[in-house]
Amino acid sequence: MNQSKITALFGGTFDPIHCGHLQVATALATEVGLDSIQLLPNNIPPHKPQPRATALQRLEMLKLAIQHLPLFSIDTRELARTTSSYTIDTLIEWRAEHKQTNTLVFIIGEDALYTLNKWHRWQEILNYCHLLICRRSSPSNIPYPESVKWWLQQHITDDITHIHAKPSGYIYLSNTPITDCSSTEIRSKIAQGKNCASLLPELVWQYIEQHNLYR
Ligand code: ATP
Repeated sequence: MNQSKITALFGGTFDPIHCGHLQVATALATEVGLDSIQLLPNNIPPHKPQPRATALQRLEMLKLAIQHLPLFSIDTRELARTTSSYTIDTLIEWRAEHKQTNTLVFIIGEDALYTLNKWHRWQEILNYCHLLICRRSSPSNIPYPESVKWWLQQHITDDITHIHAKPSGYIYLSNTPITDCSSTEIRSKIAQGKNCASLLPELVWQYIEQHNLYR
């Protein structure tokens, strides 16, 4: 395989970051051949309720989570914005800072496909990056929206060499193991006084306890 240098962005609210995020991203890095992954915390998620923890707290938890994981770093550009965190804006900004020939991948969980057609200028995303999709259990067998299904068919590849050969344009559905873990579930368990140590990086769990978050 031509191991070109790839930049990988993994966007999310990370409210809080949990073991599911880290496990799937690590498995994906091995599967696709990614040297590094930049976690991209959003400031104002456009399609979700506002985060419970502050931007600073979410950032602190990300720092603690990746302290001993050299695969990961953090891109804080969306936290610096005061407007909605539209992925397309970030991709355009990244492209303006890098050569057109550099490869960029954007990582999302499979559940995001159900609402992808609500993302701002979603059909333009592949002009700037490849989309790598981590498998995730879905609550039901609801099919993706028709427009997303059609778009997937047009751009999907199961050949990793395609990702390395072009700077953008493909969708790759990974074979990463399904990890049943979500921030929503964690917040709700903590609110019920349950212990979530097994679902979170140790230092993140300690931080949540110390700051009495999600109670
Ligand atoms: P919430 O439950 O609050 O919606 P979340 O657990 O989905 O949060 P986010 O920070 O919104 O976490 O997720 C960032 C990205 O990581 C999204 O693309 C999401 O689909 C993906 N993701 C989160 N958890 C998993 C998981 N367990 N397996 C695969 N992908 C995941």
